[in-house]
Amino acid sequence: MINLSDLRGSSYIVLGLARSGLATVRALVAAGVDCAAWDDSAETRKAAADAGIRLAEPERIEWSQVTALVISPGIPSHLPQPHAIAAAARAAGTPIICDIDLLAKAEPKARFVAVTGTNGKSTTTALIGHILKSAGWPVQVGGNIGRGALDLDPMGLGGVYVLEMSSYQLELVQAFHANVAIWLNITPDHLDRHGDMAGYVAAKRHIFERQVTRDCAIIGIDDKYSVDVYRDLTKRRLAEDIAVVPLALKRVIAGGVNFEAGGLVDGEGYKVQFADVSTLPGEHNAQNAAAAWAAVRWLGVARDRAAAGLRSYPGLPHRQEQVAAVGDTVFVNDSKATNADATARALSSYNDIYWILGGQAKEGGVASLAPHFKRVRHAFLIGEATDLFAGQLDGKVAYSRCGDLQSALNAAAAQAQKDARGPAVVLLSPACASWDQWKSYEHRGDAFREMARALPGATVLGRAE
Ligand code: ADP
Repeated sequence: MINLSDLRGSSYIVLGLARSGLATVRALVAAGVDCAAWDDSAETRKAAADAGIRLAEPERIEWSQVTALVISPGIPSHLPQPHAIAAAARAAGTPIICDIDLLAKAEPKARFVAVTGTNGKSTTTALIGHILKSAGWPVQVGGNIGRGALDLDPMGLGGVYVLEMSSYQLELVQAFHANVAIWLNITPDHLDRHGDMAGYVAAKRHIFERQVTRDCAIIGIDDKYSVDVYRDLTKRRLAEDIAVVPLALKRVIAGGVNFEAGGLVDGEGYKVQFADVSTLPGEHNAQNAAAAWAAVRWLGVARDRAAAGLRSYPGLPHRQEQVAAVGDTVFVNDSKATNADATARALSSYNDIYWILGGQAKEGGVASLAPHFKRVRHAFLIGEATDLFAGQLDGKVAYSRCGDLQSALNAAAAQAQKDARGPAVVLLSPACASWDQWKSYEHRGDAFREMARALPGATVLGRAE
């Protein structure tokens, strides 16, 4: 847990008692810092009170006595409607911050790598953490992934914190400064919280704020919004001497990390092969790998160590995770793909796919995936989206209505075995939310992994969960 004892004598209100909020309260209390907390859920409040956490009474907060409101990123402080406590703090002129600011203040000698982007944040964050760890560096990985920022271990000089940061967190940070800031990509998302695309871009731009000489800004430039941000960064590079490293998948750009068949080439012309790394399939992962490469090289990891780390990356669960094989059929859990965009990445990564999809459909369903249908040998439909998807696949892809995941998996496994046309993939990439049949995408993916590994003749791939 991060040591916040320097904050003793000040007073905080913590709003939101999920993972990051609870870690914040625990760290403040352990350091003897005055704090009170609130969560809108009565159940969560009761659990917190039972655990000895002092609850704030929203109406009676003496804002003049409060140093700052620490708000969980999931709670709106502006749009679409600020939470009443955030509105009260703002009216009183009390700073609204997030846990990352407290971490940055408590660890002034450590270095910080921050990763943002609409897609690929978790993968890139985990990959950088893995490369640093396997190179023997002191590293802690957290933020929007895994452990809350204040739950991480103190490290001091020489330590590197690798933080996944959402646009919500970036919107809140006031003092945090990334030594290495990574912007992967940006496509429309979360517009309710940011008002419009310009608001979303503006929130994410905070990742580069407060960077100074000898810091590094790494930016994917394969989408039009990111190109504009890159242009501004290059102007800043001239003025402030910040290193700017572009990542370009679609064209070659001098000084950046570019792509060549099977791997990447960095600004110094060094080539790294990773096309055969099964935990980083597809073009999208080339962007993540390039970002990780640029970051660890900037931090000072030697090339051979960085390359070895990249190649031994174990992958994250539920993101094109290879979980089992039966003969030459591989079973892939991509349960995190809860929309068509994410599923497109998976479909474009394989040929000969037995595709399990469905759940609670998102707007547009899977119509946009038509260009990838030629890779699908058969589709197996589950959940509420069955009728919608059957209509969208009709005449283009052979499909079966399976009802639930177990039936779909059994049918897909049997058909893959029967076809025996060579290596095939049974892919759970649902393009849907999971809530009609599961508690979460993790729950759905865990079930798929277990079911696939229980198939007759299955060998386990990847790590045992
Ligand atoms: P995030 O944490 O930003 O949600 P993840 O690393 O968890 O990202 O990946 C989620 C999904 O997003 C993946 O399953 C894949 O479909 C897609 N994805 C991953 N990396 C990228 C990328 N660089 N560009 C576009 N899509 C990506």
